Amino acid sequence: MTSKWQTLLDTSPIILADGAMGTMLQAAGLAPGESPVIWNIEQPDRVRAVHRAYLEAGAQILITNTFVGSRFRLARHGWAARVAEVNRRGAELLREEIARAGVNALAAGDIGPSGELLTPLGALSFDDAVAGFEEQARALIEGGVDVIWAMTLADLEEARAIIEGVRRVSHDIPILVSMTFDTRGRTMMGVKPEDAARKLIEWGAAAIGGNCGNGPAEILEAIQKMRAVAPHAILIAKPNAGKPEIVEGKTIFPATPQVMAESAVALRDAGARIIGGCCGTTPAHIRAMRAALGL
Ligand SMILES: [Zn+2]
Repeated sequence: MTSKWQTLLDTSPIILADGAMGTMLQAAGLAPGESPVIWNIEQPDRVRAVHRAYLEAGAQILITNTFVGSRFRLARHGWAARVAEVNRRGAELLREEIARAGVNALAAGDIGPSGELLTPLGALSFDDAVAGFEEQARALIEGGVDVIWAMTLADLEEARAIIEGVRRVSHDIPILVSMTFDTRGRTMMGVKPEDAARKLIEWGAAAIGGNCGNGPAEILEAIQKMRAVAPHAILIAKPNAGKPEIVEGKTIFPATPQVMAESAVALRDAGARIIGGCCGTTPAHIRAMRAALGL
């Protein structure tokens, strides 16, 4: 049976992803310090509204509201025992909105970093990391996601732990992995795009690339470097709407839909195939990117 992922690849030379979830939920009233993933249970209609807006903007692959849904993150809010519930519900909310829209979009189960440092730098063992991500992946897959998308990663070992955790649940679900190259062309942990590309492909990632960070220019560079060492890889570019600035105590993302639309074309020309937005992007940005890409 051909998977929905393979069908999307076969039918779409360029794939439009969605935009931000977290900053959209903040705009919808999520309080500072409140975990967005808890809204899958407490404010499901606000999560649904974000998915719906991105579907209306033309996104073909959308992420679940589960970026901070691992036990490591939920423990900080006293919700560690509810990992299965919030992730499964997150998957269901997205699947239901895709079904309602009647389009062939994919539900990507979003797994973000643990927020902990792995040993020897930190206290989280590799095995415990794998177990935590396995738990999250199991709930997302039971909730019906089509692919897993691990994102905003800085540490390759953590990427490996996520891949291993997912593979304990499913031997064939496609795993997309995007890292954040926001520190002078490398991730915060010093990983270069070329090394990320080589390792992530070796570990079986279905698509690789960059997300979040300081905006499209930074990801463009990462895409070029990945392309050079991995000419056949499916590359992901999901940049923030520019470099965030603090204005009167509020975080502002400066890139307009028009700026992001122009960037989308540059990213495509550099070899990115899955293109969307991260923090600060909205359905208006995704709609403008879609138009500029001629989709
Ligand atoms: Zn982001």
